[in-house]
Amino acid sequence: MALSSHSKKTESLLLTDQLKTEVADKSTQAQNFLSKSFNDYKNICFATSMGAEDMVIYDLINKMNRTIEIFTLDTGRLHAETYELISHVNSNFKNKIKIFFPDASEIKKYVDNKGINDFYNSLDSRKECCRIRKIEPLKKALKGHDAWITGLRAEQSITRSNQKLNVRDSNFEIDKISPLLNWKEDEIWAYIKINHVPYNKLHDHFFPSIGCQPCTRAISLGEDIRAGRWWWENPENKECGLHKK
Ligand code: SF4
Repeated sequence: MALSSHSKKTESLLLTDQLKTEVADKSTQAQNFLSKSFNDYKNICFATSMGAEDMVIYDLINKMNRTIEIFTLDTGRLHAETYELISHVNSNFKNKIKIFFPDASEIKKYVDNKGINDFYNSLDSRKECCRIRKIEPLKKALKGHDAWITGLRAEQSITRSNQKLNVRDSNFEIDKISPLLNWKEDEIWAYIKINHVPYNKLHDHFFPSIGCQPCTRAISLGEDIRAGRWWWENPENKECGLHKK
């Protein structure tokens, strides 16, 4: 889906009665689904990338008065705006976001052998960097949990269009819950606007999808919302391995 506006995401969004009703209905459905998941699993956790969808889930969980383990991955290459948001959330809300880091010796080996930005040079090198900085820390974070909640939406990319609300994630041998799978981009931003949810300021600067700073760029009007992620690669490769098909 293309980005539709070049002004501040929440200010430019027109909250029609229809949109408000859709968001209210979908919020109730998502909370019911989360509530069922909290009952079904003994040790569920929420992995947040601090993107707009994940801030919606964070707010839904807070409104349910639930305390579950919530974590993010600090790859060491995030934008300053992402660190600002993590700091803001952890200073102002009860549900604290735990931070997981990559193994420093693995990063050193990669950088010593290949260089600090070798991920631009080949798909293999990019996947190796994502493995070290994202996948291995995620494995550590998921250890001991029986399910994880993610902010995936089906319309985000062709690699996500076949996802389901609840699937067995064979990559990590754990169930994966995606309560916002059927939400549209406008509904995400309407929720944020209605509920005054804090969000990453890069979203106001044409970054609909935010990852590591060297691998994320702003998009142009009409471009796909994930066009700014690993923009030098083919669309079918645009995942870091956290959410394989
Ligand atoms: S997104 Fe880029 S910098 Fe971040 S882990 Fe993957 S290749 Fe490395």
